[in-house]
Amino acid sequence: MAESPVLIVGGGPVGLMASLLLSRLGIRSLLIERHPGTAIHPKARGINARTMEVFRQQDVEAAVRQAGLPPERTGLIVWARTLAGEEIERRVPWGRSERSAEVSPVRACLCAQDYLEPVLRRCAEQQALGTLRFGTELASFTQDGSGVTATLVDVASGAQEKVVAQYMIAADGAQSRVRSALGVRMDGETDVYDSVNILINADLRQWTEDRPAALYFIENDRLRATFLTVNAADRWGFLVNSLKSQGYSPEDFTPQRAVDLVRLGVGIPDLPVKVLGIAPWVASAHVAERYRHDRIFLAGDAAHEMPPTGGFGMNTGIQDVHNLCWKLALVLCGQATPALLETYHDERQPLGKAITEQSLANAISMGRLQKTRETAGARPEYLNEQGMIFGANYVSTAVVPDGSAAPVVVNPVTDYAPSARPGGRAPHAWLQRKDGTRVSSIDLVGKGFVLLAGARGAAWIDAARGLGASTGVAVTPIAVGAGELDSADGRWRETYGIDETGAVLVRPDGYVGWRSASAAADPAGTLTSALSAILSRPSSGA
Ligand SMILES: Cc1cc2nc3c(=O)[nH]c(=O)nc-3n(C[C@H](O)[C@H](O)[C@H](O)COP(=O)(O)OP(=O)(O)OC[C@H]3O[C@@H](n4cnc5c(N)ncnc54)[C@H](O)[C@@H]3O)c2cc1C
Repeated sequence: MAESPVLIVGGGPVGLMASLLLSRLGIRSLLIERHPGTAIHPKARGINARTMEVFRQQDVEAAVRQAGLPPERTGLIVWARTLAGEEIERRVPWGRSERSAEVSPVRACLCAQDYLEPVLRRCAEQQALGTLRFGTELASFTQDGSGVTATLVDVASGAQEKVVAQYMIAADGAQSRVRSALGVRMDGETDVYDSVNILINADLRQWTEDRPAALYFIENDRLRATFLTVNAADRWGFLVNSLKSQGYSPEDFTPQRAVDLVRLGVGIPDLPVKVLGIAPWVASAHVAERYRHDRIFLAGDAAHEMPPTGGFGMNTGIQDVHNLCWKLALVLCGQATPALLETYHDERQPLGKAITEQSLANAISMGRLQKTRETAGARPEYLNEQGMIFGANYVSTAVVPDGSAAPVVVNPVTDYAPSARPGGRAPHAWLQRKDGTRVSSIDLVGKGFVLLAGARGAAWIDAARGLGASTGVAVTPIAVGAGELDSADGRWRETYGIDETGAVLVRPDGYVGWRSASAAADPAGTLTSALSAILSRPSSGA
C-alpha cells in the first residue's frame, strides 16, 4: 500500500498551496485532483494583499503578478446601466489605493483563478517532496488512531488503489465529499442566491480601457450582472446574479441566451461574442462547525462557503492552509505535540465565520438576495475591508498572551491598527540594512520562527540562538538597531510595542506568538517556555 505523511484531496488553489507549503517545510505529500487539469473558469480573481504577502514569502509573488494584471489596469469598481451606457458610480477599492502601502509593502493583485492555478501547480510540482496526481479521485476513506486510509480511483481507467497517510487535508471544495462523509454540520445559511458564470471572448476595450476596473456591475431594468475582468481585453467573465429574482433559471442559459445577455449588458445588440463556458452555481454562507476531525482537516471552500461579494473565498482558504501546514510539519517532525493541531480550528474557524458573515452582508447590501429587481448600492465596507484582511486576532494555545488589550478600532471590518500583540499578524515596519537598502519586516518572517529584538536585546538574541540546541526548534534571531539592521523611519519599536530591551517571537505563518515589551530576568527560560507553550509541549521544552 502506498504511503504519504499527508494526503491532500483537491487541486484547487487551496490544495495546490498546501502542497507547496508542505514541501517548503520539508514534508512529503500526495495531492489528488479528480479533473485532468487546473480550473477552466476564472472564478476568483482578487488576491488580497495578505495572500500576496504569503505568496511573496513563498517566492511565488513574481510569477503570480506576471500571470495577472498590474494594479493600474484594475484600479476601479464601476457601476453602469450598460457598459456602453450611463455610468452610475465608481469607487477605488482600498486595496488599490495609495493608503494601502502604509500597511503592507505588498499590493493586492488581480489574477484570475484559471491563470493562477497553473502558476501554483508549476511551483508545487517543482518541489521534490510534493507529488501531484491529476485525474485521480478520492472514492472513500477511513481513519483510526494511526492514520487515514484512502481509496483512490484513476478517473480514466477506473483502477483503484489504497493510500495510507498520517493526516489528510480536505481541500475538495464547496461540495466536499470528505465533509459529507464525516457528517460535518454547517452553521449559517445554505443556498442564499443563485448565479451563472459565463466565460466569454469579446473585445470590450472600447468601454473599459479609459476606466480600468476589476468589476463592472450592470444594473438596469432587464438585467443585473457583472463583467469580471480577466485579461482586460477580450477575455471576460460575465456573472448573471440572482437568476430567480430576474426570472431566469440555470436551464435558460443556452449559449445563444448567454450571448443575448452579454449584448444586453454591453448595450450593443450586434456585438461579436463567443461563449467559452457556462457554469451555474449557488452561493451559500455557511461554515463547518469544526475544521478538525481527528486526523482530517477541512480547508478552503470545504470549510467555509461564502458569497463572492468581497472576494474572500480563495484568500481565506489559502490562509487556512498557511495556518495549518507549519503545525502539521512540526507535529510530523516530532517538534510539537498533536495538541498543536487543535489550534487550527481555534484560530481559523471563528475568523472563517466572521468573514462569511461580512461577505453575506455585502451580498445583501448589493441586493443579491432580494426577490425584486430594484437596484441597490453596495455598503461602504464593500472592498474597503482592511480590518478583515489584516486584523485577524488569534486566540489559542499557540499564542502566549502578554496581557495587553486588543487594539481598538471603530469598525473592525474596515479599520486595521497595526500591532504586534500576540495573536495578530506581525505588522509591516520599514527597516534599513547597513548598505542603505530598505526591507520590510514582512520580508523577514513567514518561513520559520523568527525572533525580532530591540537594540539592547542581545540577551534575547543569545537565548534564541540556544533554542535550536535546547529544544530542537530553530529560531532565527534578528536584532534591530544593533548595527546590521535599523529602523528606517524610527517607527519599528512603536509599531511592535517594545522598548530597546524587548523582543517579539513570530511564528512560521507570520503571526506573533509571544512578546516581551522589555527585558526579562531569565531570557532563555522565558523564551523556552513561550516556544513550548506555542508548540503544545511540556513546559520543560525537552
Ligand atoms: C464568481 C466567483 C467569483 C469569485 N471571486 C473570488 C475572489 O475574487 N477572491 C477570492 O478569494 N475568492 C473568490 N471566489 C471564491 C473562490 O473561487 C473559491 O473560494 C476557491 O475556488 C476555493 O478554492 P478551493 O481550493 O477550496 O476549492 P476549489 O477551487 O473548488 O477546488 C476544489 C478541488 O477539489 C477537487 N475535488 C473535489 N472532490 C474531489 C475528490 N473526491 N477527489 C479529488 N478531487 C476532488 C475539485 O475537482 C476541485 O478542483 C469566487 C467564486 C465565484 C463563484
